[in-house]
Amino acid sequence: MSEDNFSVVRRQEVPATLDAGLVSPMHLSVAYCAADPDMLDEQYDGQEAGFTYAREGHPNGAALAAKIDRLEAASGGVVTGSGMSALAAIYLALLRSGDHILASNQLYGRNLRLLQQDLGRLGMDITLADPTDGAAFADAMRPNTRLIILETVSNPTLRIADIDGIAQHARDTNCLVVIDNTFTTPAAFRPFEHGADIVMHSVTKLLAGHSDVTLGYVAARDPGIGAEIRDAVATWGLTPSPFDCWLAERGLHSFALRHERAEANAAALADHLATNPNVDAVFYPTRPDHPDHARAVQLLGPHGGNMFSFRLAGGREVANRFVRGAKHIPFAPTLGDIATTISHPATSSHRGLTEAERLALGITEGFFRISTGIEDITLLKREFDDAIRSTII
Ligand SMILES: *Cc1c(COP(=O)(O)O)cnc(C)c1O
Repeated sequence: MSEDNFSVVRRQEVPATLDAGLVSPMHLSVAYCAADPDMLDEQYDGQEAGFTYAREGHPNGAALAAKIDRLEAASGGVVTGSGMSALAAIYLALLRSGDHILASNQLYGRNLRLLQQDLGRLGMDITLADPTDGAAFADAMRPNTRLIILETVSNPTLRIADIDGIAQHARDTNCLVVIDNTFTTPAAFRPFEHGADIVMHSVTKLLAGHSDVTLGYVAARDPGIGAEIRDAVATWGLTPSPFDCWLAERGLHSFALRHERAEANAAALADHLATNPNVDAVFYPTRPDHPDHARAVQLLGPHGGNMFSFRLAGGREVANRFVRGAKHIPFAPTLGDIATTISHPATSSHRGLTEAERLALGITEGFFRISTGIEDITLLKREFDDAIRSTII
């Protein structure tokens, strides 16, 4: 066997121009070779930059985290394997048995379940409160409240949390304010500028933007807390795949343009549907008829975002007809895709609630949540008009 066998088994030669590639290279390697034990020692101690083992961190994860850090005006953020694992990393890093968590009662369904069922089982106490009511949060604070968790804009009624008021109450306490900024994105709102201690995202949604990866992101204002969260990601194995990170970085290149177009489409389509006599109500944060309009304008400025909801009169049959009538719009339980998607909360995100609980939130069978994409607005208006017309017998 010739010496060449070494280079066949573990090929090291790469073309000299690789570093000059226009596109970020994809590093699928699970391990990184150090020059000697001294160097490895320094890398593990954090004195020397570089990568050791992919679960501890890898170049594509670091490149993506650095880009989202820029958008959120954060530093030291970390990318995780899903939005849920980003939330898990926060809880696993910072909570212990006996801690109290104060959470919005309108959080993403899986997060509510994680908080109530799983963290409850692990010995934490959870209180839910209305995120639009700063006083309710202040009243529910306890000496052992360690985390407050909110979404900037809630799903699917698009209520706006009183972030300034709630953060004000948490200031000078031991309690950290966590903001899930998935719906709003840093293009509309940067929670660190409003008193947040920790910001997280489901990168799966608008940031990656093409419904082909599942990823999350977390960053903390305090570098020590950021390091604890990064450690939890490596220890509990919440690390993302390099390939997913590479795809998300590619998606992020067009994020600003996609967001601008999708937001303009949402605002125009919401206004258009509000004039349709078969539409009972439209929910869009920057519309004057939205219940939190003043706070939306104060927090988001002109950025109502790419999500809106509306309600048709009628039950399941009307809902079925609407979805079947919107032939060109995928009916898919996600958001933030490059294409417009329709979601029906009663049968997806809010199916775990009783009908009475859904009705208390205004979620009827005719209630739809729309995530707008980048299509031509004229076509979108026509498609929605036709679909609504098809519900009338
Ligand atoms: C989707 C979503 C999550 C969970 O993210 P995954 O990437 O699906 O794990 C958390 N919060 C919000 C607001 C979401 O929309």
